[in-house]
Amino acid sequence: MSTLVFLEHHGNELQKGSLGVLAKAASLGDGDVGAVIAGEGARSLAGEAGKFGAAKVWACEDAEVAQPLPQPRVDLLAQVVEEGGYDTVLFANSVLAADVAAGLAARLGAGLNWDLVDVELRDGEFVGKRPALQDSVYADVGWSSTPRLALFRAGSFDATPSGGGDPETADVSPTYKEHSTAVQLVAQDAAESGGGPSIEDADVIVAGGRGLGEPDNFTLAEELAKALGGAVGATRAVVDAGWYPYSAQIGQTGKTVSPKLYVALGISGAIQHKVGMQSSGTIVAINKDPNAPIFEFSDLGVVGDVHAIVPKLTELVRARKG
Ligand SMILES: Cc1cc2nc3c(=O)[nH]c(=O)nc-3n(C[C@H](O)[C@H](O)[C@H](O)COP(=O)(O)OP(=O)(O)OC[C@H]3O[C@@H](n4cnc5c(N)ncnc54)[C@H](O)[C@@H]3O)c2cc1C
Repeated sequence: MSTLVFLEHHGNELQKGSLGVLAKAASLGDGDVGAVIAGEGARSLAGEAGKFGAAKVWACEDAEVAQPLPQPRVDLLAQVVEEGGYDTVLFANSVLAADVAAGLAARLGAGLNWDLVDVELRDGEFVGKRPALQDSVYADVGWSSTPRLALFRAGSFDATPSGGGDPETADVSPTYKEHSTAVQLVAQDAAESGGGPSIEDADVIVAGGRGLGEPDNFTLAEELAKALGGAVGATRAVVDAGWYPYSAQIGQTGKTVSPKLYVALGISGAIQHKVGMQSSGTIVAINKDPNAPIFEFSDLGVVGDVHAIVPKLTELVRARKG
């Protein structure tokens, strides 16, 4: 078996989610694990990929992959899969990775298992774990052909370095299909962030709902997230109301996350929100209604007013850290 991992990077830093998938692939210990890095600075990131278990890094710095567009990356991965003889390709979920994985599945006629939270080798066969029925059960899933493709839910694996750091590096420049380079990115804006981690990468998420009362009160969530070193999430109700950007929405029609700690502020816990965050490690909810559904799946429930509790909590966290 030989596994290839698609590594995403932003601002010359490899994404924690894809490093987690790489570390997991390496921990399976079955054959050499390869990694693909595309875009400006790809080659310089090879050593970092080696620390997380990549034995070989395929680096592509072509102008065609300079922008974060999927189709040129499909060409790249299709060529690397063929040249390297890889039978498994793994992705950490992101908007870009999901597009690339879907495109690669179509290109190679390969099976793609989506939204996995784990994978293991059982009697020499890859077996994926996929939450089903609104995350109430886990289903074992497999592949009936190779290459096997898998996309993992954000936060599925810790990005734990395994030593090394000096992988073989190969420059690769695929033949791009005409349609792959037909799309041009005309503009790109960075979302304003307080400098903390992205929702996909965060170990801690502080999410706000309608119980915050008004858009300006999202500073309560932001301050607590900052104190905890986390990211801010939101429910659809507040996103629809224009209180917070769509990119922060968690749930059925937003992002699925599984941070180590999820703090829900003024969130009722509707099923559509629950499916996006219930696999979080520890769930803490603050809600003034003791009968709010969120308390049914919280590890710690605080019945009270967010406006009274959150500033004090933030102060306590700051004091403890400082
Ligand atoms: C097809 C479909 C898809 C959907 N997808 C999503 C999705 O992806 N994500 C999502 O989140 N929702 C989604 N929804 C919407 C979902 O059903 C809920 O409407 C939404 O999650 C509710 O958001 P909320 O908890 O912020 O608001 P509410 O349900 O209004 O809850 C507000 C909570 O705040 C509490 N509260 C009020 N004031 C205070 C205070 N001062 N202090 C403490 N607590 C207070 C209240 O007791 C209440 O429990 C979807 C719905 C549909 C139909």
